[in-house]
Amino acid sequence: MSYVDEIIEAVIAKNPSEPEFHQAVKEVLNSLRPVVEANEEKFRREALLERLVEPERQIKFRVPWVNDKGQVQVNTGYRVQFNSAIGPYKGGLRLHPSVNLGIIKFLGFEQIFKNSLTGLPIGGGKGGSDFDPKGKSDREVMAFCQSFMTELCKYIGENTDVPAGDIGTGAREIGYLYGQYKRLTGLYEGVLTGKGLSYGGSLARTEATGYGLLYLTQEMLKMNGIDIAGKTAAVSGSGNVAIYAIQKAQQLGVKVLTCSDSNGWVYDPEGIDVAALKEIKEVKRARLTEYKNYRPGSEYHEGRGVWTVKVDLALPCATQNELHLEDAKALVANGVTAVAEGANMPTTLEATEYLQEQGVLFAPGKAANAGGVATSALEMSQNSERLSWTFDEVDAKLQGIMVNICHNMADAAERYGFAKNYVVGANIAGFEKVVDAMLAQGVV
Ligand code: NDP
Repeated sequence: MSYVDEIIEAVIAKNPSEPEFHQAVKEVLNSLRPVVEANEEKFRREALLERLVEPERQIKFRVPWVNDKGQVQVNTGYRVQFNSAIGPYKGGLRLHPSVNLGIIKFLGFEQIFKNSLTGLPIGGGKGGSDFDPKGKSDREVMAFCQSFMTELCKYIGENTDVPAGDIGTGAREIGYLYGQYKRLTGLYEGVLTGKGLSYGGSLARTEATGYGLLYLTQEMLKMNGIDIAGKTAAVSGSGNVAIYAIQKAQQLGVKVLTCSDSNGWVYDPEGIDVAALKEIKEVKRARLTEYKNYRPGSEYHEGRGVWTVKVDLALPCATQNELHLEDAKALVANGVTAVAEGANMPTTLEATEYLQEQGVLFAPGKAANAGGVATSALEMSQNSERLSWTFDEVDAKLQGIMVNICHNMADAAERYGFAKNYVVGANIAGFEKVVDAMLAQGVV
């Protein structure tokens, strides 16, 4: 049995109830086969893959808090510090009822390679809780965040581990978490990113993941002789990533026809109205059923369906495993040109393989959505310097980073004989730097 297959089997046996983690490990290791086979003896002796799939540390803790009725609630908190070979752990905190250790591990594992791809000195980590901020009052969210940070603060720091936002963790939650960290430790330091502008946040961080997704998509199309202007797109989700992906897409001349939330989806033949979407989601924190009040010509449908619309570009920006094989078939039947992942692992393995077989350009999340973490690292730099850069400065750096990532993943794929397979390319390009650092640092 090959070294890669041995490791995949061992991961499944050792972590039997973590299917998302298995999926992420399979996707990454399968595409690393050419590199692993070329270095098999050395990697085996160093137990390199065994070390890569085992988090350096995983922390699980109780998060008790009191709701508005005076009832004590208990959630579970997680922080998985996966790999610090190239820098302090960096990765978001997800607050969603579906959160469990396997999901945090899949996200932390992916984060290692994504962070490496940015070219910035950040290791991989991820955290979160099964707490659901939806429908909670601001006071309840604050009570949860303060309790969560009371435990988490023992393990993080500006040079150790720097968490950020993710699903369910936006500006409000980061503010409460930061306040509690400062109160407990007395330190005013860049321990979290995604902070508000009045207390150390970076301009363009809010927009970064969505904007970065479009910068990379634009470059990938350009490398293949296609102009992004004039194309149509389907976007899923209506959160942070989706909103700013739609905004940048429109600035680049793309007509975005859809968006969605976990209840249903919107089709707007005139193109999604970003101002309306922001008001519904960022101000009112309401459901997409409201969109029709702003745009009477649009349609709202319950359930899934964004991938059935005829478009040139598909940009999944909601959550993992939201684009299935039948969705991929529908997109291909409608002549889709490219799929670029704004969310983490939104496309199932079967759907990804099908899209690639059909010649669809496919940009994996660890490259396509790396703009968020890259700009978080830029926030860390500004915090260390005690300076704030302008929006245009940060945006220009982000654009440069995304263009670089695009070329690095394309070059790595070509070097190993997998031209245009950007999944293989992104994994190899991210892996090379991490492995080099791990080997240099010895058995740790
Ligand atoms: P938000 O919480 O802001 O938005 C998430 C969106 O996805 C919402 O529209 C939500 O709908 C929808 N959604 C969440 N869970 C499900 C589900 N199970 N089924 C269907 N829809 C769902 O999160 P973000 O925009 O920040 O994150 C979206 C994705 O992008 C995630 O995969 C995240 O890991 C990834 N990502 C985020 C980065 C960032 O900077 N924010 C950076 C890199 C990756 P509803 O409101 O109904 O829950």
